[in-house]
Amino acid sequence: MRLDIHVHSCFSDGVPTPKEIVEHCRKIGLDGVAITDHDRIEGSLEALKYAGEGFMVITGVEVSSKDGHILALGVKEPVEAGLSAGETVKRIHALGGIAIAAHPYDRYRRGVGDAVLTVPFDAIEAVNGHTFGNTKDPMEMAAKSKLPMTGGTDAHSLAEIGNVSITTEKTDILDAIKKGDVRIRHVWPGLFPFWHARTLLDRFIAGARKKL
Ligand SMILES: [Zn+2]
Ligand SMILES: [Zn+2]
Repeated sequence: MRLDIHVHSCFSDGVPTPKEIVEHCRKIGLDGVAITDHDRIEGSLEALKYAGEGFMVITGVEVSSKDGHILALGVKEPVEAGLSAGETVKRIHALGGIAIAAHPYDRYRRGVGDAVLTVPFDAIEAVNGHTFGNTKDPMEMAAKSKLPMTGGTDAHSLAEIGNVSITTEKTDILDAIKKGDVRIRHVWPGLFPFWHARTLLDRFIAGARKKL
């Protein structure tokens, strides 16, 4: 199974609709996706409608905690924004989900940083397709914190989806992530800025279309 577990839809700041995301994922041969909009679950729940026939939709949300972004996978409702990382992770677990420190050491965006050493996250997002620089090596910090690693594109446009993905033999994806039973696949990170520029272009086009 190959999945992209960090994708944004038009329900937050992404360009594509959940339907377009699922259709595109199927087309490029992914076996599943998690739509993780900023503090909104609707896109993720809508994507569920298009699951089935060998394609898996994992529900999720990217929570804007006070300490940085946290991915909640397997939840069916959003977690309140603005709580501490510790409190956010506790709520995610109470909702039956797993908590992943999103781009924890991103130089330009808000990650939880060294909270990965003290807060009981289930995994660290060691590869993020929108990270152009880290303050610390997330892989090294994953080893130090003894947390398993995941990756995702953080795609905001269709073109990016699948550039970073996880693969596993297991069918219980959340459990596989928690046990470190996934492998991260990605394109050469030097291409990440190119995809980011592509997203900006797609967003501009979508905005211009709306005005017509
Ligand atoms: Zn983020
Ligand atoms: Zn994101």
